[in-house]
Parts: sequence; structure tokens; C-alpha cells
Amino acid sequence: MSQRRKLAAGNWKMNGLSADLAKLRQLIDTYPNPGCEVLVCPPATLLDRVRALTADKTIALGGQDCHFAVNGAHTGDISARMLADAGAEYIILGHSERRTAYGETDALVKSKSSAAIAAGLVAVICVGETLEQRKGGGTLEVIGEQIIGSVPEGASEDAIVIAYEPIWAIGTGRTPTLAQIAEVHDFIRAQLRMRDDGFAADGVRLLYGGSVKPSNAEEIFGVSNVDGALVGGASLDPTDFGAIVSALEAAA
Ligand code: PEP
Repeated sequence: MSQRRKLAAGNWKMNGLSADLAKLRQLIDTYPNPGCEVLVCPPATLLDRVRALTADKTIALGGQDCHFAVNGAHTGDISARMLADAGAEYIILGHSERRTAYGETDALVKSKSSAAIAAGLVAVICVGETLEQRKGGGTLEVIGEQIIGSVPEGASEDAIVIAYEPIWAIGTGRTPTLAQIAEVHDFIRAQLRMRDDGFAADGVRLLYGGSVKPSNAEEIFGVSNVDGALVGGASLDPTDFGAIVSALEAAA
């Protein structure tokens, strides 16, 4: 039986002001002792205050991006060490919004991931195909290349999480079929097993992301090699995110 701890991760993206901390308080009060790991990735401006709210660490805290350098002349950037210093334990890297809007390559995602791991963070590395790539039958090839290009060599199984996020499913309300999710997750597991990196491929958690909501969470969490979800829009609503956490607890 798998020992992988299920993970429900919320990506707030560029959303969240001080007033929104009350929503997080609601989530914490509803899940004082969650039966799966719960991760919230607010904007960097709220990290300190979210850490204060989650000081008992029942809810984990993460950043949404970092620079690959430790410090230096990089105006506007944040290093992994700074995020760790602010209380983060995780970081989302290679999200398709950054790959698309900022031209982030696999090589850049790999260097950021290495920096994050060196800073003691768990890197949640995102991969996923466009609709054109899926329609053209290239999904597995694209995912395979992203895994090879983005996941740093020598990372321990505890230091990385891989999120499969089909780009066409993010924020659209559309989701792949369960068979399509299973195909990609099984493929990612097989790709990890083929790497001779010294990590235990079966220990790496694989998240599905893309329009996860209370109404589809249970069936998605029943899919093979799905160890949780990376949730965007629904993570902003404590009731919806709470329902997703409950579905994952039931699956755990
Ligand atoms: C995401 O952006 O990582 C995501 C999964 O978004 P949504 O849940 O809104 O589709």
C-alpha cells in the first residue's frame, strides 16, 4: 500500500488582501486536524500573516514562484531562501501561467526547483499540455519532455511533488476524462521509475490540477496515481476548498 501522504494544495495566484485572511481562518477552524496535508500558497505579501495564522503548521504554506539565485541584483524577484525565511515549506514552480506569460523554459524551472530544494522547500513542479498538443496526440511526449527538463537530478522523493495540469483545463471548467488523467499520471510514475536518480519514484506525490471543484473531486481522487490536487479558483472559497479537502480525506 502507498505511503504517500495525500495533498490538497490551494494556489491563490494574484488574489488575496488582508481582508481575505478571514477566509483562511474559516478553513483552519473547519479543519483543525486534517486527515490529509493541506497547503495554501497565497501571494508573497501575505506569507508572514498566513504563517502567523497557521503557526501550529496544521496547514502548510507555500510560495508561487522564486528566482533561481539566492540573492542579488534582481529587482522585484524573491528567492527561495526568502520564502523559506517567511515561513514557506513548499513552492509552486513551472506553473503554465508563468511558462506562457514569462516564457519560462524547462531549464529555468529546473534551476528554480534546485534553488528551492537547496533552500529546504518542497518544489511542486507543474507540467501539462496545450489543447493543440492533446488533439495532435502529443500529450505524453510533451509531459515526458517536461519531466526530464524540469525535475532536477538527485532530488529526493520528499523534495518534489509533480502537478499534472492540462493547460486547457485551468480555469476553464473543463476537465480531462478520468481515463485521460489516469493515463498521464501512470505515465509520469513510469517516467520517474525509469530515472536512475537515486530517489524512490513511488514516493513522489502526483497532483492533478485543472478545474477541480467539490463536484468532481471525489471521482478524480479515485484515479490511480492521483495523490491530491492543485486547486486554483476553488481554493479562494473556503467552503469549496474545504469540500475538496473532505473528499481527499475520504480517499486517503
Ligand atoms: C491552477 O491554476 O493551478 C489551477 C488548477 O486553476 P483552476 O483550479 O482554477 O483550474
